[in-house]
Amino acid sequence: MSELAYPYEAPASQALFDRAAAVTPGGVNSPVRAFRAVGGTPRFMVSGTGPYLTDADGREYVDLVCSWGPMILGHSHPEVIAAVQDAVSRGTSFGTPGEGEVALAEEMTARVAPLEQVRLVSSGTEATMSAIRLARGFTQRTKVIKFAGCYHGHVDSLLAAAGSGVATFALPDTPGVTGAQAGDTIVLPYNDLDAVREAFRAHPGEIACVITEASPGNMGVVPPAEGFNQGLKDICSENGALYVSDEVMTGFRTSRAGWFGVDGVVPDLMTFGKVMGGGFPAAAFGGRADVMAHLAPAGPVYQAGTLSGNPVATAAGLAQLRLLDDAAYAKVDAVSKEIQGLVTGALAKEGVAHRLQTASNMFSVFFTDRPVRNYEDAKTQESFRFTAFFHSLLADGVYLPPSSFESWFVSTAHDERAVQRIADALPAAARAAAEATA
Ligand code: PLP
Repeated sequence: MSELAYPYEAPASQALFDRAAAVTPGGVNSPVRAFRAVGGTPRFMVSGTGPYLTDADGREYVDLVCSWGPMILGHSHPEVIAAVQDAVSRGTSFGTPGEGEVALAEEMTARVAPLEQVRLVSSGTEATMSAIRLARGFTQRTKVIKFAGCYHGHVDSLLAAAGSGVATFALPDTPGVTGAQAGDTIVLPYNDLDAVREAFRAHPGEIACVITEASPGNMGVVPPAEGFNQGLKDICSENGALYVSDEVMTGFRTSRAGWFGVDGVVPDLMTFGKVMGGGFPAAAFGGRADVMAHLAPAGPVYQAGTLSGNPVATAAGLAQLRLLDDAAYAKVDAVSKEIQGLVTGALAKEGVAHRLQTASNMFSVFFTDRPVRNYEDAKTQESFRFTAFFHSLLADGVYLPPSSFESWFVSTAHDERAVQRIADALPAAARAAAEATA
């Protein structure tokens, strides 16, 4: 039970949270939902429409989380719902191939040039786990480079310095991951190509791949420095390793071709999730056809899934992707810019030191006056100001990610009314941030 007192009540959410805590560890099915970083009662949502979520107490919020990225058309988009209803009416899972998964793979490969072949899975974690296995199988090498602050799901070997949820809970190395699993992972500072070159020099012929968030959003938004991703790709090519770009968060969000559509760096393998599932559990990994040919049943690297390519999930994802044309991205980008301006304006007015960082329409606010180029920088922010800012906005009906190490997300459904509600709530939140003490 939460003993913290906040200036507003959420009795129905609190009652559900108490019930949940009896049957589920910490009362949630994914740790960051528990509000531990900011305190208070997590809101149990009962419905979502457009840019709004409604909680169990009947209070409506402008949603700036969008289910952590997937809901780029807003909640309950009529055409996505119709596609889901149509799919459901024909059955929910067949355990056989179906046309929907072919159509989704075709849509994805048509949008993202380096994606010659894809394999569908059910979560981003599964996608990165499988991509790493394939990279190891293909190169016949063991070691993997990842960057501190990048999160690639809760894959054992990648749960080292993994940003957001893990940062929030200060669990840099989680119990349950063995030394052997972590031992093949080399964790380097983000945006530091010299460190990557040095690691390749220190481990000649041993590094299977470098995995990186295409543009990180899991330590807050920390975009790659000019030339960083291309540098990674070049170093990998020179050393016979694969460059794996994790686009679970950025894929089909930061442009119609994700972050690849922004920086044009060609990965060997890519991973996807979130937007491509339309709010259902669908994810994917893919890339070079000659590498993907090593995957079972075409090749020897095993990978499988009972619900992979599920007909309802693929119908939702396909409907969402088909609605995401250039006009949709222009709309998301524009509303994102508008909200960014409102946030910095309100904080500047109260003299709050902050740094807003963006990656196309993804953005986040760091409570620091210095640029944030990596995880060490991100950790120097004054998170206590975020806590005050967050709770003020929550009380006024604006739902932010409950951690200062997360990206904010908007959708095509964030219209004038929703933006006005954010604008109305920001002055008090900025004041709360200014007055907050550690
Ligand atoms: N990779 C990135 C970049 C992510 O942001 C996430 C989730 O937030 C994942 C992988 C894991 O995806 P999932 O939560 O679907 O397992």
